[in-house]
Amino acid sequence: MLLSLVADELMSNAFSATTMDWSAKQHEYMQRAIEVAEKGRGQVRPNPLVGCILVKDGEVIAEGWHDHLGGLHAEQMAIHDAEEKGHNTNGATAYVTLEPCNHFGRTPPCTEALLWAGISKVVIAHGDPNPIVRGIGISVLENAGIDVETGLLEESAATQMREFLHWCENRRPYVTVKVAVDVNGSVDDLSKDAGRFTSEDCLKEVHRLRKDCCAILVGANTVIRDNPSLTVRLIETEKQPLRIVIDPNNKIKSNSKVLNDGHKTKHLTDDFRGLEAMLDMLGDLEIQRLLVEGGPSTITKFLDQGLVDEFILVQSNITHESPKLSSFDLTGFTKSVETVWGEEKVTIYTR
Ligand SMILES: [Zn+2]
Repeated sequence: MLLSLVADELMSNAFSATTMDWSAKQHEYMQRAIEVAEKGRGQVRPNPLVGCILVKDGEVIAEGWHDHLGGLHAEQMAIHDAEEKGHNTNGATAYVTLEPCNHFGRTPPCTEALLWAGISKVVIAHGDPNPIVRGIGISVLENAGIDVETGLLEESAATQMREFLHWCENRRPYVTVKVAVDVNGSVDDLSKDAGRFTSEDCLKEVHRLRKDCCAILVGANTVIRDNPSLTVRLIETEKQPLRIVIDPNNKIKSNSKVLNDGHKTKHLTDDFRGLEAMLDMLGDLEIQRLLVEGGPSTITKFLDQGLVDEFILVQSNITHESPKLSSFDLTGFTKSVETVWGEEKVTIYTR
């Protein structure tokens, strides 16, 4: 009873805007922690990206990040890094992008590691949304006499952990749609066999996107028409995303690449119970980001049911000979990024 009261109080207080006057230096340190966290991208799921740097006497003496699933947590890697470089961590300040864990998971708790290392102050960007951890890491540190400050660059850290936070809250993957169109908005050239019409550098970016997604989904028609492999090939990866094919009438050929190349595929036939049930199932499998690369009818179904979180429109400067025009209803979305992938113009819409 007492414990739950304490936990409730901590939950309400831990991140309730103690408006801090952060210095430019502190911003710089946390920005660096966010940057090093990026090194784990595509390798740590279902854990979030986390970065940590140690500062002593105004100098960054060590940095660490969660590098791969089962590897050291960021705080522990930073402490290890300091030791390797011959720095004494006693009295140092840790800048960490996520509240340190206090539970025995795949590694011992980071709160203990910070205590043993003699860290005197911990600055945290974002609280841990995991109910086992929330508020507890902070109180353990504070009770041990460590000065804790929270909320520095919280929004940047939240953006970096976007899919992890979405999954913690909804137990479903964050859904990203990617669609490529020609200069006139045509999704396909009906005079050609396969649908590929983007530059090599753009394809590399698509593979980078695939690497960051735990699963890639298409409908049966895409498999029948293009026989894609939907793997990451143009950049290095240790792990291939799970392929998902929605095929309620079991139409795809048994010799399709996705069924025969040795990588994992979920072929949803008569066990397909609709998109929402499928997203619940993927959430249970700890799939935190789903990439929908299907054709217009699959994408439209996701949009109609309000299940899309991010829509990436890739527009090339070529013109299809026999265009298949398609319009997508992006009501409720706002343009968040305009960029270039290779020779293609890319617009990213989010809710
Ligand atoms: Zn930890």
